[in-house]
Amino acid sequence: TREFYKNKVVIITGASMGIGKGLSLTLSQYGTKLALCARSADLLESLAQECKLKGAQDAIAITCDVTDQNDCKKAVEKTLQAFGGIDVLMLNAGISGSQPFQEMTDLSVFDKMMQVNFKGYVNFTFHALPHLKKSQNGRIGVMSSMSGLIGVPYRTAYCSSKYAVNGFFEVLRNELGKDSTLKITVMCPGWVDTDIRSRHVLKDNNDSQYKDKSKFMSVEDCVNGTLYAVAIGKRDERFQMLPRIIPLI
Ligand code: NDP
Repeated sequence: TREFYKNKVVIITGASMGIGKGLSLTLSQYGTKLALCARSADLLESLAQECKLKGAQDAIAITCDVTDQNDCKKAVEKTLQAFGGIDVLMLNAGISGSQPFQEMTDLSVFDKMMQVNFKGYVNFTFHALPHLKKSQNGRIGVMSSMSGLIGVPYRTAYCSSKYAVNGFFEVLRNELGKDSTLKITVMCPGWVDTDIRSRHVLKDNNDSQYKDKSKFMSVEDCVNGTLYAVAIGKRDERFQMLPRIIPLI
């Protein structure tokens, strides 16, 4: 894994915290050139410094909102200016939230979830794809979710956005064809121990689901599994089965 990433140019979206931050710090130890993207400029600046201290060849902070096409275009351009190419695109920026559909009074959360979780990934892919194809061993690492494979109760909006992500990349992989050197790996973790739940965009009526932290995967395990699966160009990685945690019908 370490050898694969050495000297590679890696864009990480949602790098400022959680899994994205974990990916950034581990990749630093592998000697990568990092383009760190998110909206929180201050967090990104200090992370870029930390990455350089940890061994990154270089690390630049790029403030961008993934829902803004122009921001994504500029982020790709800034990466090219700094490093001359792109080898790996780690799509990770996302939001979450849960509420029973039957208790919703407003459907705006569907637009929001699709804009960030789905369209954000499409935006970045659109602008980075021509450059990723020029890399000898280009990779797209897609942080989807187990919620992109099973219908988790109270997560209509989140699951829909992640199912859309899985569908989009399934099609793109088929369009690239089996001989493509650009590989797409879709990660489907269960619950990972980040603060994403404190940022939920819906009022959670079922937060007792998240009380038992022993069912959570650590950020470190998620990061290591992701980096390995992406390096070998694995089709997908199903980290942990949510049905073991949530009783489904
Ligand atoms: P966090 O909330 O810890 O981090 C989310 C990241 O996304 C932040 O860096 C945030 O940065 C960024 N982000 C959010 N909205 C935008 C936006 N509009 N534009 C740019 N960046 C944005 O979440 P996690 O690390 O837990 O989750 C990361 C990914 O993993 C998500 O796609 C999530 O769906 C997925 N996942 C998480 C699981 C979990 O249990 N934690 C389980 C399965 C999948 P900023 O606010 O600075 O913009």
